[in-house]
Amino acid sequence: MNVTVIGAGTMGNGIAHVFAQSGHDVVLMDRSAEALERALSTIEKNLDRMVAKEKISEADKLGTISRLNTSTDLSAAVANAALVVEAATENVDLKLKIFADLDSASPEGCILATNTSSISITRIAAVTSRPDKVIGMHFMNPVPVMKLVEVIRGYATSDVTCSEVMSLSTQLGKVPVEVNDYPGFVANRILMPMINEAILTLHEGVAGVEEIDTVMKLGMAHPMGPLQLADFIGLDVCLSILRVLHEGLGMDKYAPCPLLVNMVTAGKLGVKSGEGFYTHTRGSKDLVVAPTFAK
Ligand code: NAD
Repeated sequence: MNVTVIGAGTMGNGIAHVFAQSGHDVVLMDRSAEALERALSTIEKNLDRMVAKEKISEADKLGTISRLNTSTDLSAAVANAALVVEAATENVDLKLKIFADLDSASPEGCILATNTSSISITRIAAVTSRPDKVIGMHFMNPVPVMKLVEVIRGYATSDVTCSEVMSLSTQLGKVPVEVNDYPGFVANRILMPMINEAILTLHEGVAGVEEIDTVMKLGMAHPMGPLQLADFIGLDVCLSILRVLHEGLGMDKYAPCPLLVNMVTAGKLGVKSGEGFYTHTRGSKDLVVAPTFAK
């Protein structure tokens, strides 16, 4: 199948990787040529790691790379697409513009999927002339490793579109789960209040950063604590998803913790800025509590 992935950032490179590895012809499109170069080198590095671990052969790696093309031109990139997966920056206006453009530039029967974490699929679908073919395909980070695809049905998504995307996801070696289009879908509706509660627990002085994360790691068998996870996701991303939940579901229980708001305002965004609840040094895996929270 001809698949086009829009956006070659963290998620886009992983999505392009898994489709190409499963035998699909992929065009990876980004407005930035530099992002495309970075994405190709990340994919190659990830494939090398898989070869080293004997998960795939050298021939599989070369085959995957040969099925990957790149483009900075959206119209050219989707001209022959049967499926588009959009993974551009999380910004409503940007996504609405991209979907209006995709609708005019892609073939009539092409399915238009989005990897959005929080924007309404129904709203995105409404700017196209084919809302029945618009769907959420929410991959998890890192895409080549994580099994889940949250498949989100917009208000008008057809049964045919949904079942095609479900079976395609299975063919990628993933486990798709069908959910409906409500704020935060399922993954973030449950995850983000947990992270917010962890931040409130810290804010109220119930326990320190390491204590909270240790309780959740050892007590609930989570692979990492909620504060460490928030640093990985990006505190700005957590805040913006909580705002979507708060606004969309209209309940105070989703109100972002003031400490989270303050940290984002101060530019403490977690791994990407070097500091959040922990200090993150490039190349180091040591978990060091940030000076603000150190005892
Ligand atoms: P990112 O910032 O790493 O990458 C976004 C890419 O989109 C950039 O390379 C940027 O150049 C490109 N882009 C921006 N505008 C564009 C346009 N008009 N046309 C083409 N390319 C454009 O972002 P990301 O973390 O990969 O997130 C992408 C999407 O995936 C978002 O909707 C996000 O909510 C969702 N998502 C992210 C995660 C995660 O853990 N990072 C997990 C699940 C879903």
